[in-house]
Amino acid sequence: MATNGIVKDLDFSSFRNVIDGKLTDTKSTRRAINPATNEQLWPCPVSTPQDVDAAIQAARTAFKSWSKTPLEHRKAQLMALSAAFTALKSEFGELLTKEQGKATFFAEQEVDFGAYWLAGTCALEMPFEVVDDTPDKLVKTRYTPLGVAVGIVPWNFPIMLLCGKIAPAVMTGNCIIVKPSPFTPYCGIKLVELAQKFFPPGVIQVLSGDDSLGPWLTAHAGIDKISFTGSTATGKRVMESASKTLTRVTLELGGNDPAIICSDIDIATVAPQIAAMAFMNSGQICIAIKRIYVHKDIYIPFRDAFVECVKAFKVGNGFEKDVFLGPVQNKLQYDRVKTFLDDVNSSGQKIATGGQVIDTDTSGLFIQPTVIDNPSDDSKIVVEEPFGPVVPLLQWSEEDEVLARANDTDMGLGASVWSKDIDRALRIGESLEVGSVWINEHLGIKPTATFGGQKQSGIGREWGLDGLRGYCNTQTVFLNHRRS
Ligand code: NAD
Repeated sequence: MATNGIVKDLDFSSFRNVIDGKLTDTKSTRRAINPATNEQLWPCPVSTPQDVDAAIQAARTAFKSWSKTPLEHRKAQLMALSAAFTALKSEFGELLTKEQGKATFFAEQEVDFGAYWLAGTCALEMPFEVVDDTPDKLVKTRYTPLGVAVGIVPWNFPIMLLCGKIAPAVMTGNCIIVKPSPFTPYCGIKLVELAQKFFPPGVIQVLSGDDSLGPWLTAHAGIDKISFTGSTATGKRVMESASKTLTRVTLELGGNDPAIICSDIDIATVAPQIAAMAFMNSGQICIAIKRIYVHKDIYIPFRDAFVECVKAFKVGNGFEKDVFLGPVQNKLQYDRVKTFLDDVNSSGQKIATGGQVIDTDTSGLFIQPTVIDNPSDDSKIVVEEPFGPVVPLLQWSEEDEVLARANDTDMGLGASVWSKDIDRALRIGESLEVGSVWINEHLGIKPTATFGGQKQSGIGREWGLDGLRGYCNTQTVFLNHRRS
């Protein structure tokens, strides 16, 4: 099988930039750290402004022909990349556990998700709208590629989020330069190396580096689009940078997702699901459940069932059997999550379980999954996104009241409502100021479904037809049939 040949010639222990189709050395290198062991991993590139110039030049050249290739060819190449990537699931999964910390099962699941995004995006057709079609006039809106896109991603889903930018960018005829997080550079670098087997030089490139690289890329006059996923604070800096050149931006930012639990649910069915969706990836998911509003009539039994589930989660090195929570991904984030525990302790809030970091002989960045029992609405754990394994349970009694509390935030990424009464759940859900509403589920996403945030959770949309439009110029054509 062709993909087996590809498997054999990828070296999973050397990591270089990919510029203009070539593996490219940088003058200096750095090493990221395995968060489960505190061990340094392999050398990886520290890109310079010259590398940025070279990649953008190559992308601009490649765009001239790539943008003219038939849509079906672009889709076929994405499908081929998806298949090759799937064939490398265990190699990429192992690499992901080493650099990100998540357990093997979830790491391989992320490879599947990445492959699904590469192939699944191809189920979409290019957006096209006929506004008027009369004997006098045809008015239509068509969409053309923007040019060179830059995709910047965080460290929580280094593969899936990268695939979620590569697929719509190149399917719509753009070239893309991706920049992984300095905390998790390896999988992104290797994925783009793999992509060279299927795409012409300059269409998909990767630059890795330190904290200077993102600002160099976003400020460069040679790019046409920035697709950024990361924190709200950095998103504002990206937008400021883009304002100098009016570069198009899509910002996928932080979240503080509520789950509203109604009194008619079956606790034994729902509590384990909510626990999993709050603590998966050690709480480091933009759309993880971060505030759990439980109706007062079932608060105590729900809390007790929820805490039992959380206590059963195994925390540890992602390579160990049955681990559900790996480490927090990096020291900066670990220290930030500790500020939430400090605040809980100093303000005397009730801890239902957890509350401590875990000392290990490997110096890994482990924190006990922690549940805070009914803290006040203005406490740090309710107001801010911890992005770690600490979650508050809150009590509610009236529908209007819980809606007001759930909406009382600058964030607006996702939310879920849990009830057997679907009309009621939809009524509550559709009143929430968020980009994604789930009824009796949470975390659902698809390459063909629009995703994005309201308020300070983002600007623009990824995935689905709106996501494709985000990589395109809009051109409206008025064709008069009678005046020539
Ligand atoms: P971050 O904002 O610190 O970093 C994200 C990326 O931006 C990294 O690659 C980083 O190197 C780069 N970067 C940093 N400063 C930059 C600058 N000035 N210009 C350009 N690039 C710059 O975020 P993080 O800590 O890596 O990720 C956690 C955050 O990401 C959380 O808030 C989480 O909710 C959010 N997130 C959002 C989504 C979404 O789809 N909405 C998905 C995942 C994570």
